[in-house]
Amino acid sequence: MEKYQLNTNKIESFITHLKNKGKVFAPHKSGKNSFKFNEVENPDSVVLDYNRTLNSIKKYFLPPREVLLSFSKKEYSFEKSTIEVEKKIFLGVHNYDVKGVLRLDYNFSQGNPEDNYLKRRADSIFIGVSYEPDEYHFSQSVGIPLHDTEGFDIYLEKNDSGYTISAITENGQSIVDGFDGFSEEQAAPSNHVQFKNRLKYNYNRLPEVFEHSWNASVWEEVSKRCVGCGTCNLVCPTCYCFDVEDNMDLSLLQGTRERNWDGCMLNSFAAVAGGENFRETLAERQRHRVYRKFKYITDITGEPWCIGCGRCTAYCTAGISIVEIVNDLCDEYEAKYLNRPVEQSGLNAARL
Ligand code: SF4
Ligand code: SF4
Repeated sequence: MEKYQLNTNKIESFITHLKNKGKVFAPHKSGKNSFKFNEVENPDSVVLDYNRTLNSIKKYFLPPREVLLSFSKKEYSFEKSTIEVEKKIFLGVHNYDVKGVLRLDYNFSQGNPEDNYLKRRADSIFIGVSYEPDEYHFSQSVGIPLHDTEGFDIYLEKNDSGYTISAITENGQSIVDGFDGFSEEQAAPSNHVQFKNRLKYNYNRLPEVFEHSWNASVWEEVSKRCVGCGTCNLVCPTCYCFDVEDNMDLSLLQGTRERNWDGCMLNSFAAVAGGENFRETLAERQRHRVYRKFKYITDITGEPWCIGCGRCTAYCTAGISIVEIVNDLCDEYEAKYLNRPVEQSGLNAARL
């Protein structure tokens, strides 16, 4: 694997080099304290040192809203929307977010492969960047250590003078080739910061906890604070549920079929005809959300469907932490099934 030194004063010219290779998307500042991925217009507006973006790059493969087809009742016809495959370079991606994309690849390629997602996903290059975990990140606990580079074509690791660039794949090497702004001297890597936030059990022990957590008191406890806003679903890189609806125009002769993000924390999500709702209470919905991340798909794939980004906690309207929920489940499991005293590591601890 080839390594190069990119000094800080050459970052903008490197981004300009990338723009000659394809459409480049990277983190930008948004408002006072937030960041979001946008297409790069000006290299100097790219921010590589950031804690997390509000939404992950999922939005480029599964847009929040999309028209699937348009139809005409008059002509008894319909036309599917066309999606062009185009080269996209994602610069400055944190490693947990590329793992989120790999999880979605699984979801959308099983059974009936989902064409729209797969076409948007094709020809994507991922350039990762190292980051310092803040009080919300807990990726290490779900099997994603700080410098895990799986899924990246190129990886930028911060050092004292800029970044060490590793070309990981052939695609990555071909992107790096031709850039003449690298420095001859390699700089010392920056100190590694450790995760402050962590799950009480490593992810591979959690299936045993979830096996026994269906009736845990945590679900009712957390539902007293949850307002059912669905923000945790909307910001999650691995939530992929959507709703499909037909919208007629005013003539009532033609319309469009649209797909929109949906979220299992919303009251309407499990509502069906006849006024029934399969998950009427917030406790049931919260349990479903967390079981989706740590049990249902994990039982099939062996991997957690939470990548530890911390978004659902950082942006929760009610300050609910998924780490506290899981840690309380671990406490309750230990107290009930292993006869150990409760250590108060999660929600219970937060209330003390
Ligand atoms: S973001 Fe927080 S308050 Fe809103 S539904 Fe999720 S857990 Fe409940
Ligand atoms: S459940 Fe929360 S921490 Fe886990 S991937 Fe989703 S938003 Fe991130």
